[in-house]
Amino acid sequence: MEENSRRVGKIELNDGRLMPLLGLGTGKGPKVTAEMCQAAAEAAIAAGYRHLDTAFDYQNEEELGRAIQNMIKQGIISRENLFITSKLCNTHHAPSDIPLCLNKSLSDLQTDYVDLYLVHFPVALQKVGDELCPMKDGKALTADIDYVDVWKGMEALQESGKVRSIGVSNFEALQLERLLSVAKVTPAVNQVELHPYLVQTDLIEYCQSKGISLTAYGPLGSPGRPQNDHQGDTDPEKLLEDPVVVDIAKKHRRTPAQVLLRYHVQQGICVIPKSTKPNHILENTKIFDFFLEEEDMSSLRGLNRGWKACVLHELKAHPFYPHDC
Ligand code: NAP
Repeated sequence: MEENSRRVGKIELNDGRLMPLLGLGTGKGPKVTAEMCQAAAEAAIAAGYRHLDTAFDYQNEEELGRAIQNMIKQGIISRENLFITSKLCNTHHAPSDIPLCLNKSLSDLQTDYVDLYLVHFPVALQKVGDELCPMKDGKALTADIDYVDVWKGMEALQESGKVRSIGVSNFEALQLERLLSVAKVTPAVNQVELHPYLVQTDLIEYCQSKGISLTAYGPLGSPGRPQNDHQGDTDPEKLLEDPVVVDIAKKHRRTPAQVLLRYHVQQGICVIPKSTKPNHILENTKIFDFFLEEEDMSSLRGLNRGWKACVLHELKAHPFYPHDC
């Protein structure tokens, strides 16, 4: 099995740690249960994945913890050669809640540490019972907490040893600039939506200039996601079927998904495609043994249309909402 994982490339983060360039996405979906995530994680680890992407918010960490334990018991992996990313929930941005959120994730994942812990989103929400997005009169109940202060809590977590690397998710360049002006630790990663319909060249260049690595979420255009934004005629279901992507795939005798994933890893950008189907999980590993020529990369970049699959309408009016990433 370790033979499988050797095929997966890694990137060195700004703190010297290595992050596998391919991870399994385990985010929520209308038809994806936590039990399906457990089965997917086991299939992925067996197929050679050594990076799992989860979050408090996904409510599947207990099942992922079981998957990890099952695979450790079978001798397929050890904890040390698995890279686990989790994320701080938006309802836990208050200083005393930050370690609580992490501790719950660690307990569910049955581990003493996560490899990477991210601030999931720059906007804080109020803590109302167990609600993940408390609402009143159709509006999300936001909390007046600055992400710059949240970052201090993240730095403290890293000092505690329960988190190896710290980073952010859904942060725009201006927000990173503001954060860097006071940070003791530069975020190791910014996890954002990236694919040829949303190329984000400026953000990528900014992050790379500051030594911040990128992880692309929604790399396949999030097919199957409830369509939560209507921006004209670009159908979110169609990135995998886009004729440009399909033609490049034919040329290289690969699948459209493999081309879309290769597009990122070739730029040193980590990808975390989600799948619950073993054949797709395996297919998505086969992206380290072919090369897209500059004309392919340029054609893919040429598809850019600023289309986002992941839009949180209920938070859009907040001053910290990341419209530019
Ligand atoms: P995605 O990975 O672009 O797309 C997932 C969809 O693609 C699934 O419905 C899957 O269906 C299908 N798929 C996977 N491999 C395929 C293949 N080889 N051929 C055809 N279809 C394939 O979108 P995503 O789930 O939105 O994003 C990926 C991960 O990013 C999430 O799971 C989560 O971990 C993370 N994420 C993070 C944030 C954040 O705010 N930080 C936001 C969104 C997502 P099957 O199950 O049928 O294969």
